[in-house]
Amino acid sequence: MKETECIACHGSGMQADDEGWQYKCSVCDGLGLVAAEREHGTRIMSVDENNRLLD
Ligand SMILES: [Zn+2]
Repeated sequence: MKETECIACHGSGMQADDEGWQYKCSVCDGLGLVAAEREHGTRIMSVDENNRLLD
């Protein structure tokens, strides 16, 4: 599955509150990555799989 950088934590996996306390990003669960929208990923994959010249 294609993944993209988490917008909420900018890929760090951590967020900080107003007092400077850091905690695990709730959007990506600390991974720093989130699954890209299915539509885009599917398009790219199907192109790669069919990238052959038919003679
Ligand atoms: Zn995140």
